[in-house]
Amino acid sequence: MSKEYRVLLYYKYVDIENPEEFTEEHLAFCKQLGLRGRILIASEGINGTCSGTKEQTDAYMEKMKADPRFADMVYKIDEADGHTFKKMHVRHRPELVTLRLEDDIDPREQTGKYLSPKEFYEQMQKEDTLIIDARNDYEYDLGHFEGAIKPDIRSFKELPDWISENREKLKDKKILTYCTGGVRCEKFSGWLKEEGFEDVSQLHGGIVTYGKDPEVRGRRWNGQCYVFDERISVPVNRDEHVIVGRDYFTGEPCERYVNCANPACNEQVLMSEETEHFYLRSCTDECRVHPRNRYIQEHNLTDEEVSEKLRKIEEVRAEV
Ligand SMILES: [Zn+2]
Repeated sequence: MSKEYRVLLYYKYVDIENPEEFTEEHLAFCKQLGLRGRILIASEGINGTCSGTKEQTDAYMEKMKADPRFADMVYKIDEADGHTFKKMHVRHRPELVTLRLEDDIDPREQTGKYLSPKEFYEQMQKEDTLIIDARNDYEYDLGHFEGAIKPDIRSFKELPDWISENREKLKDKKILTYCTGGVRCEKFSGWLKEEGFEDVSQLHGGIVTYGKDPEVRGRRWNGQCYVFDERISVPVNRDEHVIVGRDYFTGEPCERYVNCANPACNEQVLMSEETEHFYLRSCTDECRVHPRNRYIQEHNLTDEEVSEKLRKIEEVRAEV
């Protein structure tokens, strides 16, 4: 039996005139339908993910298909038990994804070769091939393709610098790039070509499409795919599930992301329920003793109880 709700993921690089005005109209339209999610609008296109009932999401896609600008937009569709967002946001941005390049890339003019899931699966096993993960590190840490390189960066914006530093390692290689739904690789692979790398390909439709391919079945993907909604992650590999996520404190296999209890930090950290309680759901000592620590508030811990917990953490550290 299929579920009642759907989660849509989609993008399209296309000229949008008066993007501010379109943003407002689109927000009103989505709200009227009862959708929830996050949609970015720029003069270069649309990038969105939203949830709703089957009827609501069907109505959305139907209306978008009637607009010539979005008629051929591809939707990745997941089933869900309910909404996967709390609110509906439609925001105007200068770019759909930020590479912080001196000259922005227009993927309609310059982008990597599109590989289907099957082509990507075959190519990544060949020699002289490098797979580069074009996502943020917290996404990579939860799951990635076997052998994929994790650029040593904190966010997508830092990628260009990383590439410059690793130019020697990358040249003369066949480069494969991938991201969640494909929108980031459109620019990233285009930028790599602009930078002089000749053999650059991208996973068409991203990891989400790869995981749905009936033939490839998500093989050679380890872990889960991070997604930007309340689900946090979705499965990819239909044949086997190798956990690559590691508990921040113990290094044990773990796929449970929580936000650091220090609201000023709010960093996403992988931790089990056990380490969450032991470390007050906080990534550092500084976060643990923050005056607005949410863990301490939620559990009504007294100063003495907090001190006792901090003492135990010290004990564990001393043992190592
Ligand atoms: Zn923290």
